[in-house]
Amino acid sequence: MGTMPMSESQDLLTIKTLTKEFPGGGGPVKVLDGVSLTVRAGESLSVVGPSGSGKSTLLNIIGALDQPTAGEVLFEGRNIAALGEKELAQYRNRSVGFVFQLHHLLPQCTVLENVLIPTLAAPTSDDARTRALHLLGRVGLEGRIHARPGVLSGGERQRSAVVRALINRPRVLLADEPTGSLNPESAEELARLMIELNREEGMALIVVTHSPAIARMMGRTFLLQAGRLVEQS
Ligand code: ADP
Ligand code: MG
Repeated sequence: MGTMPMSESQDLLTIKTLTKEFPGGGGPVKVLDGVSLTVRAGESLSVVGPSGSGKSTLLNIIGALDQPTAGEVLFEGRNIAALGEKELAQYRNRSVGFVFQLHHLLPQCTVLENVLIPTLAAPTSDDARTRALHLLGRVGLEGRIHARPGVLSGGERQRSAVVRALINRPRVLLADEPTGSLNPESAEELARLMIELNREEGMALIVVTHSPAIARMMGRTFLLQAGRLVEQS
């Protein structure tokens, strides 16, 4: 850190000319074709684009759930492709938080148990429980902590999923159409909560969305189209 210029040390993620090809019937299909992006600590940004344009692919590569064909992702200046197995697991579990369109909560566990699952790899602490209760209160779920996902509304499930994603204090929250299964009111409420948490918790926020209204709530907006990511003014 000490030897880095200030501007670079503030870059949380540096995404350099990513390409991603998938095998297709008529040969490889290039989904990402030279995507570059710098994300600074604590900022919020949205990615919009047509269905099939590679938005999920991009988030999965940033979160190390998938690997690029070429190009690299630097997290705090380190190439995540060069991380060892243990460091990579830590990156996925601690540095990054994921929220998907479907909540993926475990049906047999309560809300509180669900949001504590990512902390189970570390020694259990009162700290994790305190943080879980704080965050659940913050998103208006204080009265639902002992409920199981099956009895929750869609909005309550997604708010639980956001708390689970933030429980380990990630530096970046990756949200892939988090409001895609919600009605417009719950969708906007969830987006507003994510922005508030982005400000309070200081994690960067990257949201993929089909909603222009939600996209505009983020600090910067990008369009992914024909394999390219273009910042919108
Ligand atoms: P988006 O999230 O923007 O809708 P995706 O990233 O899910 O788009 O997919 C982009 C393109 O890549 C689509 O054409 C999709 O069919 C293709 N694709 C995604 N994952 C795979 C895969 N594992 N194997 C083959 N093709 C894939
Ligand atoms: Mg997608």
